[in-house]
Amino acid sequence: MNETLRSPAPDAPVVHHERGQRSVFCGLAGIVWLHRKIQDAFFLVVGSRTCAHLLQSAAGVMIFAEPRFATAILEERDLAGLADVNDELDNVVARLLERRPDIKMLFLVGSCPSEVIKIDLVRAAQRLNRIHSPRAKVVSYSGSGIEKTFTEGEDACLAALVPDLPLDAASAPSLLVVGALADVVEDQFATTFREIGVEARFLPARRADSMPAVGPNTKFILAQPFLAETARALELRGAKRIPAVFPLGSEGTSLWLKAVADAFNVQAATLDAATAPGRARAEMSLARHREQLAGKKIFFFPDSQLEVPLARFLARELGMKPVDVSTPYLHQQLLAEELALLSSETRLNEGSAVDDQLDRCREARPDLTVCGLGLANPLEAEGLPTKWAIELLFTPIQGYDQAGDLAELFTRPLTRRSRLEV
Ligand code: SF4
Repeated sequence: MNETLRSPAPDAPVVHHERGQRSVFCGLAGIVWLHRKIQDAFFLVVGSRTCAHLLQSAAGVMIFAEPRFATAILEERDLAGLADVNDELDNVVARLLERRPDIKMLFLVGSCPSEVIKIDLVRAAQRLNRIHSPRAKVVSYSGSGIEKTFTEGEDACLAALVPDLPLDAASAPSLLVVGALADVVEDQFATTFREIGVEARFLPARRADSMPAVGPNTKFILAQPFLAETARALELRGAKRIPAVFPLGSEGTSLWLKAVADAFNVQAATLDAATAPGRARAEMSLARHREQLAGKKIFFFPDSQLEVPLARFLARELGMKPVDVSTPYLHQQLLAEELALLSSETRLNEGSAVDDQLDRCREARPDLTVCGLGLANPLEAEGLPTKWAIELLFTPIQGYDQAGDLAELFTRPLTRRSRLEV
């Protein structure tokens, strides 16, 4: 079912709403990057063998390390209600924490099977907290494919952390950057903020015992566009969101940093001095990609929720033509600044109707299509070059020094195809 509503910004594209079959990973996929970020956390999925296979194939790199995620597999007798799942879960957690003193935070992650048989993981986490606190903190969230697309797993995880963040009662305003960033990107941003006189803290922190405090004087800025639930949870704690575009590309990074600078009354000259070298590096690295990408048509299937900021970056900084941009959810408030920069010639869609989108894609014959793994092979077979959306989550792409790497993710499939055609 499709319907058309007006978008809030007069110059921004009209938003089409589509409902139908979707083709994306579930929220468990977020564990792949979240376990790297929170270094003393463990993610215990309460799920099925399918969930275990998904995690293992998405993050096979764990073979040589002490794993920091696993699946507590629900067997048939659990699903049939013949065993006390809570007792079994308590035993699994007790054994895990006894064997692994390095684990300081344990996430119980809900899945489709745990939701279908209605295991109450919120209550389980409360019970396990009483047993294991202060040795380890236990938190629950849902990564189930019934209700979560893959980046929503991170949103659910961070939102679950917010109620227990310490209270920041200081009267001076503080900055909180929200969203799991690669450590190298986080370090770069922390340095830039320090240079403009703003001390930044990051959610999630790298360790369980250094999660940031939050309070009425916290100003937070999102580093990822898919964190609506986390933003709401922070606002309930009194924190105020700094509206901004997202730090993708040189312009995106400059506008994102400027939003912080404005919120903390930093002089324009101070910001300019701190960012000029990074901007110059980013511009230089983008120039060679622009030659290859300018004028090329790009088509986005709904997947990562990064689609709108990426389309803005590719159009404005690399001269690409985003002909059709679909995103699973369009958080109009969080994306207002992005939408204002998107051309009204772009067809913008919220939701999934994969068959309709495939028809439009075939008709548009884009030079590049960004989609999930399941759609990539059939489209490639039809002669349409693709880029896997999930790579945009596994690769550091934010900030000046990653702008060239981000652009390269889009030039690489075209280069590969032209080599194959030689
Ligand atoms: S949570 Fe659901 S969609 Fe995700 S792997 Fe498990 S069964 Fe599949």
